[in-house]
Amino acid sequence: MVLADLGRKITKALQSLRDATIIDEEVLNSMLKEICKALLEADVNIRLVKQLRENVRQVIDFNEMAAGLNKRRMIQSAVFKELVKLIDPGVKAFQPVKGKPNVIMFVGLQGSGKTTTCTKLAYHYLKKNWKACLVCADTFRAGAYDQIKQNATKARIPFYGSYTEVDPVVIAQDGVDMFKKEGYEIIIVDTSGRHKQEESLFEEMLQVSNAVQPDNIIFVMDATIGQACESQAKAFKERVNVGSIIITKLDGHAKGGGALSAVAATQSPCIFIGTGEHIDDLEPFKTKPFISKLLGMGDIEGLIDKVNELNLDDNEDLLEKIKHGQFTLRDMYEQFQNVMKLGPFSQVLGMIPGFSQDFMTKGREEDTTVRLKRLMTIMDSMNDAELDNKDGAKLFTKQPGRITRIARGSGVTEKEAKDLISQYTKFAAVVKKMGGIKGLFKSGDMTKNVNPTQMARLNQQMAKMMGPAALHQMGGTAGLQNFMRQIQQGAGGLSNLGGLFGGQS
Ligand code: GDP
Ligand code: MG
Repeated sequence: MVLADLGRKITKALQSLRDATIIDEEVLNSMLKEICKALLEADVNIRLVKQLRENVRQVIDFNEMAAGLNKRRMIQSAVFKELVKLIDPGVKAFQPVKGKPNVIMFVGLQGSGKTTTCTKLAYHYLKKNWKACLVCADTFRAGAYDQIKQNATKARIPFYGSYTEVDPVVIAQDGVDMFKKEGYEIIIVDTSGRHKQEESLFEEMLQVSNAVQPDNIIFVMDATIGQACESQAKAFKERVNVGSIIITKLDGHAKGGGALSAVAATQSPCIFIGTGEHIDDLEPFKTKPFISKLLGMGDIEGLIDKVNELNLDDNEDLLEKIKHGQFTLRDMYEQFQNVMKLGPFSQVLGMIPGFSQDFMTKGREEDTTVRLKRLMTIMDSMNDAELDNKDGAKLFTKQPGRITRIARGSGVTEKEAKDLISQYTKFAAVVKKMGGIKGLFKSGDMTKNVNPTQMARLNQQMAKMMGPAALHQMGGTAGLQNFMRQIQQGAGGLSNLGGLFGGQS
């Protein structure tokens, strides 16, 4: 993804600060030059790029800066702030209210991804237990209703549309009325697009909007159109009251910079980005975490959000057990379940500092899910005694007949069942180590509470468990330690560890 390139280039430019012995005007200028070049290559508007350069320069005054001040950090934080400003309109996004109908209307050009995104958004709310539904008010494009019908049926989203009615205003009105009466909370209205900004499109858009009185109008913009985004977004904004923006097709080869900077220009916040054609390829968008992630600093906030969404009721229990160095096969099973609930692997891993976004390609991610499911199937053939045994592995070495039984029961080879046990053994050993380390679970900075030798040993063990490739991706042992600290600070407890475990291959 080209956006990741942008991130890499900016990160590299920022690193030049670290490599320089003295940070002076010259170093700053050459760094800014690199950053601006990267932004322009990513299609960010030239006016905004110039502005960014000037703003950073203004913040950094070498004469005024006290000798002891950390120039590096000041420059970095100025760049970070300016990058955030570039895509942050400073406006709060519309938040739907539970227990009442929230009508959300989609607008945008044909092919921008409206219909796809409507379904994704409805599904997003459905997953969070909102009553969500879809209304197809596109009578312009042949097959528009079928498209919604097909997508909605697959995802079990209630929908409304008509094969005979030709007036989109009537359909929109009828659909919204019906769903309102039925107590729906999120009513999404898909509208038609045209190939370009035509007067007739805007006219129709206004009529539908007047008829259904939307609480929020979402403008859908295709990231692949680059610099053209800004004028398009402005044109829509001028005609209807655009409340938020969703940028689609940020997977693939979109440069993204054009679309992202258009957001600030329209003063409407981007609320989601589309990252693929699948129904769950929709990521909530928050400016700061996005920039952090782009620069490889990780999106811990997003990760915490995701984990919180899980409602890990038994996490306390598990944490308690781990403090005592206990970890059963059932615990592992439950962790796998949590990891799978977290959703697409690459998304979760992308939030962890040190993992680049493209570390987990789609193919590998599916592999991982399949792999986890397979491991869980094997565990499904275990009995309670095996799952809950404090030292589950021993049971199997003492009585190898159990392996045969489980392999047969789950339809795998004995080798696979044995591999599972040996992976579990490695993992349980790490947990035992963690439990044995005084101070690991105390609040505060783990590195201060824990004896460094013990910490180093734990790191070594973790590193062995993960394999060299994954460790390298995490930024070596330093990255791993950082990651451990975040886990310990409550970024969802141990489901993350489960993730790493499942991710090795
Ligand atoms: P509409 O005309 O605005 O309703 O656009 P559609 O929803 O029909 O989408 C047009 C095309 O873009 C379809 O082939 C979609 O599968 C594709 N599409 C939509 N969103 C995304 C996205 O985020 N990523 C990718 N790769 N394709 C997308
Ligand atoms: Mg459509």
